[in-house]
Amino acid sequence: MTAVVPDFTTEAVAEAERWTAHNYHPLPVVVADAEGAWVTDVDGRRYLDCLAGYSALNFGHRHPALIGAAREQLDRVTLTSRAFLHDQFGPFCRELAKLTGMDLVLPMNTGAEAVETAIKVARKWGYRAKGVPDGQATIVVAENNFHGRTTTIISFSTDPDARRDFGPYTPGFKVVPYGDLAAMAAAIDDTTVAVLVEPIQGEAGVLVPPADYLPGIRRLCTERNVLMIADEVQSGLGRTGATFACEHEGVKPDMYVLGKALGGGVVPVSAVASSQAVLGLLRPGEHGSTFGGNPLACAVGRAVIALLETGEYQQRARELGERLHEGLRALVGHGVTAVRGRGLWAGVDIDPDLMTGRQACERLAERGILAKDTHGSTIRLAPPLVVTPEEIDMVVAAIAGILRG
Ligand SMILES: *Cc1c(COP(=O)(O)O)cnc(C)c1O
Repeated sequence: MTAVVPDFTTEAVAEAERWTAHNYHPLPVVVADAEGAWVTDVDGRRYLDCLAGYSALNFGHRHPALIGAAREQLDRVTLTSRAFLHDQFGPFCRELAKLTGMDLVLPMNTGAEAVETAIKVARKWGYRAKGVPDGQATIVVAENNFHGRTTTIISFSTDPDARRDFGPYTPGFKVVPYGDLAAMAAAIDDTTVAVLVEPIQGEAGVLVPPADYLPGIRRLCTERNVLMIADEVQSGLGRTGATFACEHEGVKPDMYVLGKALGGGVVPVSAVASSQAVLGLLRPGEHGSTFGGNPLACAVGRAVIALLETGEYQQRARELGERLHEGLRALVGHGVTAVRGRGLWAGVDIDPDLMTGRQACERLAERGILAKDTHGSTIRLAPPLVVTPEEIDMVVAAIAGILRG
């Protein structure tokens, strides 16, 4: 950064670097408070948050309905463990089952835990319902996937940074190119219990697959008696202009994996939702989580579902997404080489001859826009769905500005 860096920021960055494992490389911005689409740093500078907690903040920072639900619950009960029930649990599961159009819900905390849950349940379904020989279950996944950071999940990552030095890896996964139905068809055999995919690959650079891809997977899974698991942790809950990204293609998976925005940016809340035939197989003691489905999580999750039921946020993502993409497309050939995405979600490839994605994000931060690079020269934009049309125009103008130099 060329600007003079004020004291509080310098100190706070130095302290974090001194005392934290360096598993992230954050921009030197130290947030002190936030509201809606905006954050304010320790030196009083304001930034438009165009990452939105990797889509955990779809409804913006501190949405009044979500903070209200959390406050109310904080005054009643916050944790029971699953050893007992509480009065938010049944309603949350019912409301999420209705939102997803599924029979049953299993709440967890983080996205990775929900993915792990989906893997375990799919394997169990394979042995109990499909008749796969014990220990033989396989799951087909896509190249450049991002499903989380646990040992099993990184076992089928194709990102060397995510895998290196963390073996031995969990077996039972087959990786095929994303968007390639023929490769997926060829990978499915009698041991296949599930296909696990992101409807849009976020970390990979907001890659939107060909229009026939998700319907093709749906067809293959139905024909070959395989579960279609859609990891909508990032693509789901309004981001793309629909409640679920699968809806754009008219596809209903056998299982949804949800997280991020389900906790409204207040608490970690994740879940899988599926049919009685799949989730109904679990018995007491076979899977669980101390914090999964806790009262605070369920209260906030219910408020998130209520916001989604209005349809307002999906509509904003559709309409403002069009404005964002139109603005970004006009930059192609002017320092931008490609733009992808759907709704209020965009991957913008900056001409690598001009700057890296990291440099682009540093320059955007100087102009009051927070975004995050991914894979070299791509920047990812996912502003909260509460942004205004004027703020979208600001983002596009700021990107045009850094490209002009
Ligand atoms: C973020 C993400 C996860 C993992 O979620 P965590 O809460 O970080 O564990 C899983 N799948 C997708 C698609 C994600 O974007």
